[in-house]
Amino acid sequence: MSRLAGKIVLITGASSGIGQACAVEYAKHGSHLILAARRLERLDSLKSTFAKDYPSVKVHALKLDVRNKDLVFDAIKSLPKEFKDIDILVNNAGLVIGVDPLETVSEEAINTMFDTNVKGLVYVTQAVLPGMKERQRGAIVNISSIAGTEAYPNGSIYCATKHAVCAMTKSLRHELVATPINVISIEPGMVETEFSVIRFGGDKEKADNVYKGLEPLTGQDIAETVVFATSRPPHVQIASMVVFPTNQS
Ligand code: NDP
Repeated sequence: MSRLAGKIVLITGASSGIGQACAVEYAKHGSHLILAARRLERLDSLKSTFAKDYPSVKVHALKLDVRNKDLVFDAIKSLPKEFKDIDILVNNAGLVIGVDPLETVSEEAINTMFDTNVKGLVYVTQAVLPGMKERQRGAIVNISSIAGTEAYPNGSIYCATKHAVCAMTKSLRHELVATPINVISIEPGMVETEFSVIRFGGDKEKADNVYKGLEPLTGQDIAETVVFATSRPPHVQIASMVVFPTNQS
């Protein structure tokens, strides 16, 4: 039986891409799922699919904007009883807005990226971690990026947010070193998801150009990595995993 069977997994940003793929991979292992995102209709539709494909998996669809601290805390506090004891938190919600030189990047883009990728991740972690400490078990997976250790032109703010995610992940791992709670950073290269088009403001042609000459990763590739990292024996902590498409330099 999988070590993940029966675990309660909260995935933020579960309405598409990597988060949705994580939901599918955890369901295959018999974990129960809290699927969180702003687009509740998508989560409800996923929940219906899971009811057919994985009838033994319990699914709770949670409308959540990670940027709102009060709502995040209320949402975690008000979870139905059978979903309260979260074992694994996948902090995946995140976005990139625009591909702009630092000189012209808008204040709105700066705020939205920091509020979502950095502050949102902190709020959800702050809401979930006390329960994990009380139960003396758990794992927190932060979906960072290769942009968390590298930087590229016209991506200064996104890279800054993901550098912050890598730094917070390391700090938290140190803070929790005396506990059985694992803190894991997953750092993907190019993954083809809605994110690929969102970053170009919906311009599909520009988005496709990025992948010329390489085969991007899929959400499933990252989800399998997340599942691997959270299914090790209790004495093993995967600190970080960097996942590139084979032909991305
Ligand atoms: P998607 O755009 O497919 O998914 C992003 C998810 O984040 C959506 O489910 C969205 O849901 C959710 N989200 C965005 N803002 C909020 C918010 N304020 N509150 C709650 N949920 C929110 O992109 P990916 O799957 O590619 O991205 C997932 C993560 O992976 C991100 O953190 C991204 O930075 C990271 N990543 C992606 C890479 C790539 O190449 N695609 C590479 C490296 C890292 P909704 O809109 O319904 O709220």
